[in-house]
Amino acid sequence: MILTGIGYDVHRLVRGRKLILGGVTIPYRKGLLGHSDADVLTHAVTDALLGAGGMGDIGRHFPDSDPAYKNADSLKLLATAWRKVTDQCFVLTNIDAVIIAQRPKLFEYIPRMEENIARALTVSIDVINIKATTTEGLGFEGKGKGIAAWAVATLAEAIDER
Ligand code: MG
Repeated sequence: MILTGIGYDVHRLVRGRKLILGGVTIPYRKGLLGHSDADVLTHAVTDALLGAGGMGDIGRHFPDSDPAYKNADSLKLLATAWRKVTDQCFVLTNIDAVIIAQRPKLFEYIPRMEENIARALTVSIDVINIKATTTEGLGFEGKGKGIAAWAVATLAEAIDER
């Protein structure tokens, strides 16, 4: 059995915050606003995995009303969410994700994002594909008001070797 899940997230870009994407701190004059570290890519990946597993969304597992998740490292939340999904006997086939940001240029940071996400999920880096695009100046991403991310995850049912 093959299962797919989709994840989408947006955070607002503001001054006085770090810009963290896929666990990589990226030098920029603004960062993403949120209760946790506001790692929009990692949140989209987490939601894609939870979606594929039929387990709701990140807000259900890690409510932003809970002080425990203030400034939380989103890679740790991802690892926890993935453990809950794998407990249902699924293996990860692939994750494909895209970050939508007009600025800064993200190309050079993508390999480290892929490494961080692969490590959090304890899978090979070959399973993780991350892309980035601008919107040619259109919309909130294009105006630099925020950054969005989409992710799709594909899971396969683990073979029962009992
Ligand atoms: Mg989020």
